[in-house]
Amino acid sequence: MATLEAPVRPRTTLHHGQFVNEPFFDFRKEENVRKMRSAIAKVRGQLGREYDLIIGGQRVKTTDKIKSLNPAKPSDIVGIHQKAGKEHVEPAMTAALKAFESWSRTSVEERASLLFRAADLLRERKMEFMAWLVFEVSKNWVEADADISETIDFCEFYGREALRFAKVQPPTQLPGERDSLFYIPLGVGAVIPPWNFPCAIMAGMTLASVVSGNTVILKPSSDSPTIAAKLVELLEELGMPEGVVNFCPGAGASFGDAVVAHPKTRYIAFTGSREVGLRINQVAAQQAPGQMWIKRTVLEMGGKDAIIVDADSDIDSAVEGVAQAAFGFQGQKCSACSRAIVDERVYDKFLEQLKARVEKITVGDPAENANMGAVINEGSMKSILGYIEQGKKDGRLITGGERATEAGEGYFIRPTVIADIQPKSKLEQEEIFGPVLAVIKARGFDHAMQIANDTEFGLTGAIYTSSREKIERAIQEFHVGNLYINRKCTGAMVGAHPFGGFNMSGTDSKSGGPDYLYLFTQAKSVGERVS
Ligand code: NAD
Repeated sequence: MATLEAPVRPRTTLHHGQFVNEPFFDFRKEENVRKMRSAIAKVRGQLGREYDLIIGGQRVKTTDKIKSLNPAKPSDIVGIHQKAGKEHVEPAMTAALKAFESWSRTSVEERASLLFRAADLLRERKMEFMAWLVFEVSKNWVEADADISETIDFCEFYGREALRFAKVQPPTQLPGERDSLFYIPLGVGAVIPPWNFPCAIMAGMTLASVVSGNTVILKPSSDSPTIAAKLVELLEELGMPEGVVNFCPGAGASFGDAVVAHPKTRYIAFTGSREVGLRINQVAAQQAPGQMWIKRTVLEMGGKDAIIVDADSDIDSAVEGVAQAAFGFQGQKCSACSRAIVDERVYDKFLEQLKARVEKITVGDPAENANMGAVINEGSMKSILGYIEQGKKDGRLITGGERATEAGEGYFIRPTVIADIQPKSKLEQEEIFGPVLAVIKARGFDHAMQIANDTEFGLTGAIYTSSREKIERAIQEFHVGNLYINRKCTGAMVGAHPFGGFNMSGTDSKSGGPDYLYLFTQAKSVGERVS
């Protein structure tokens, strides 16, 4: 169904000129549908292969394995991966430190060129990469397109940013001195991404590191190591030197924790849950024997994002925006709308229209491009169903509320709307990370804003209103890193919407924005006496 799809733009490519977002495919065109089906068939034929750890360019096997399963059909193995343990931290660090010696001195043009060439090759293989996401995390075609397009955007954007950082404005010149300031890499970074944007976020944190001259130990999520293996293979094919990215799938609690704690880890770039982010912050703060620096942490965490529907809003577009933001990719986005805060004057009308809209959403195999696929794994499904049961007690079930068993053996859950949820209750405060929307009644704009801000998170938010005054107030008062007006709260675009949240949503790193590479570099000031 076209309505959950992203806007269609023409396919153009600017290289080294001005940054332009990668356009999405138009799946109303038969030719694109045919090509996507053939990419899916090709990738289907490659499922179940085994992938090695890559440490300093060497392939390494382990006894323990990680099996990446298709959430829509868990009996299908997408990829079998080696499982790095604590004993692999030292070899990975040694390889990354060795590579840092030369990579940190490689010209920025050469490093940026790796990213531009990666963007080119990803464009050539775009549907194939998308198909891996269909199988590995149950994204439908449009969601998979958004993920790979964002990956291409990060390549193009950070490549240009690195070139810009290399030509920074000279500082004030003292008489008799030549004064300069330049940005140098940090060292070896631990890159720890989540599974929900398994290509874009994984590639974004890795490539921002690499283009800045750092080397990386990359530990992808155990739910999505295959797409990470594909990206690392692509970078190797482009001639990325050995040891620049060391590919180490492994358990967070053993390998991940040990990499964070290692004295030679210079920084940690993490995106994931609040709990793990806080744990990393704590471990990184402790000085290990032999550690010579304060570890830098870039921590992007969860959300409990709200859309406010004001009495003076266009209800049709509010319903559409809420439905897309709540249920796109099964609600498994940090930016997903999990709270609709609706003015009491339009509450009943909004709910009636929303119910009709949500009941049109199809749940099924993402390979067939259903609107919604399966949630990521069994544990996640159980946790989401637990929240739904709680919601049935705390509020009024409008639609959904159970597994969609007719969709197949996978972890399918119906899009669920629960109304009359009270502020401060569990469903209103905790991140569910699934297709569950809590609807909350507000007495007016002030009350709505108070409810929206009364959470420990602060990632995205949106307001639908036709009132200029309320828009201005929302800009001032809605305390989120990414605010949207009269549009949905998902779908941040690289360049236009630098992304990162306030409060327990993270360190507000603003990925895809002009400040991002500062986090992966350190500034060196030089004052040279010339007379
Ligand atoms: P998660 O926190 O469970 O896992 C994230 C990564 O951390 C994984 O690679 C995991 O293996 C690793 N990890 C787990 N324990 C670790 C430890 N002790 N030390 C080091 N690494 C460890 O998160 P997830 O389920 O993969 O992703 C979903 C979460 O990510 C949600 O909370 C979502 O809101 C958040 N998220 C945030 C953003 C953002 O930009 N703010 C973007 C996407 C996802």
